[in-house]
Amino acid sequence: MTDLATRAPATPTLDVAAIRADFPILSRQVHGRPLVYLDNAATSQTPRQVIAAFDAYYGGYNANIHRGLHTLADEATAAFEGTRETVRGFLNAAETRELIFTRGTTEAINLVANSWGRANLKAGDEVLISRLEHHSNIVPWQLLAAELGFTIKVIPVDERGVLDLDAYRALFTERTRLVAVNHVSNAFGTINPVKAMATIAHAHGALILVDGAQATPHQAVDVRDIDADFYAFSGHKVYGPTGVGVLYGKADLLEAMPPWQGGGEMIATVSFEAGTTFAELPHKFEAGTPAIAEVIALGEALKWVAGVGLDAIGAWEGRLLAHATERVSTIDGLRILGTAPDKAGVLSFVVDGAHAQDIGLLIDQLGVAIRTGHHCAQPLLAHFGVDATCRASFAAYNTLEEIDVFAEALERVIGMVR
Ligand code: PMP
Repeated sequence: MTDLATRAPATPTLDVAAIRADFPILSRQVHGRPLVYLDNAATSQTPRQVIAAFDAYYGGYNANIHRGLHTLADEATAAFEGTRETVRGFLNAAETRELIFTRGTTEAINLVANSWGRANLKAGDEVLISRLEHHSNIVPWQLLAAELGFTIKVIPVDERGVLDLDAYRALFTERTRLVAVNHVSNAFGTINPVKAMATIAHAHGALILVDGAQATPHQAVDVRDIDADFYAFSGHKVYGPTGVGVLYGKADLLEAMPPWQGGGEMIATVSFEAGTTFAELPHKFEAGTPAIAEVIALGEALKWVAGVGLDAIGAWEGRLLAHATERVSTIDGLRILGTAPDKAGVLSFVVDGAHAQDIGLLIDQLGVAIRTGHHCAQPLLAHFGVDATCRASFAAYNTLEEIDVFAEALERVIGMVR
């Protein structure tokens, strides 16, 4: 027998103490104090399951993948390709051949720009990029625009750091070919309505590339539900290692795209006389020996995340954000940048009479790691009339007590620099 109460989803909860026990780094001290790590939007910390994957690989089955006929090569290939299947489930992609391993989000976007962009964009075409973008979703398009002569148009934000969807709609013309937008802003935490944006882009015959670097650590992503043409993320922001990321692309688009980098792994045959033919997807886009251990470890990270549950992680980070927002709001002269109603666990702020860099350096002395600077989003910060903010960003292992330590340290530091 079911009733509404039993069918309603249980409020997701986290056992934060158990989660923290998975992260050896969290028990270290900085300047004689327990580390309070609030720089998760730059890179998240790594659970022991991910660290163990490196040990297992290098200590047990280190070998180059795909071409070997020996046991170690088979084991390494199986583990590497196993991660592709894990990523498929993580993004709900239809097929593993739609998933390309890259060095990270930056390389994934450069791949789309240099392969799809170079083959499909020409002078007079238009690409829409949001004001909220990280430099890695701006500069590849600027480099290509300088070469090919297409135009970049900027989707504006309002005073809360929310994209203006009416202005977005109004930017489309018959020459609009692509929308490049992040799912979550690293600088302000704004969650963008990428599904609605994809519907609008497709109605105008344009493609949409979603930079998911900041979304994948905090919320479940379904590339088919979004109807993203391309979706990119980085391992090191989702509890995995650096040096690895993923580009998802719809199979028909990837099939039609030319290779970007040439070399081993991505060919079918090479001949000086007959030229070169290319490997099938996804290998066509994976030239050279990939980051094998990192890919395998990424698989462990995504399994760890799935074990904890992204709904629970997102809900917990929402509590941390609410508590942090409340705590810092009482600080005299502190202004939060990015007040979108739909926001991930990122708190960006400036303080009258105290430069962000000074706050960052001094608060580190109290064991608290936050990020200060332009967060690789200079066009966004310039729009808000600042060149730097302080940014505290949250992960599954942060606690309400850590937020209190952060808020108290912040008050102390501001008192010192003013
Ligand atoms: N996009 C966003 C929104 C980011 O936050 C970052 C990393 N700060 C990137 C792209 C670039 O990621 P990576 O350096 O891992 O390639």
